[in-house]
Amino acid sequence: MAECKLCGKPFITAGPMICPACLKRLDNVYKKALDYLRDHPYERLNAKELAEAIDEDLVDVRALIELGWIERDISTESASEEMDKKRHLLKAFEKELSTLQGQSRKYGSYGYERYGRAKGKVEKDKD
Ligand SMILES: [Zn+2]
Repeated sequence: MAECKLCGKPFITAGPMICPACLKRLDNVYKKALDYLRDHPYERLNAKELAEAIDEDLVDVRALIELGWIERDISTESASEEMDKKRHLLKAFEKELSTLQGQSRKYGSYGYERYGRAKGKVEKDKD
């Protein structure tokens, strides 16, 4: 016996943690989702937007993605988007870090040069 992940009803399962009644409902949601995605191939949706678009429960749409039924259409895309964001952040961080390092190096030598020049100027002025 297991509790259905979606409705919480106990049922007998050897596989997915979703009861037959919910699976039947998911099957219907799945068909609607596929139809919608086929009709709007260029729309980039997350689970919530898709659920709203097909007028179904977000829990069901999430379950479909978790089960991998519409993985190719939605979650892979958002996953790679996440990767891109992370890569982008990392790059930005690296850039900032090297800029900071470059600045402190520049600043150090700038101060030194300035000090040296100022000193020389003072001495020159004295002459
Ligand atoms: Zn259920």
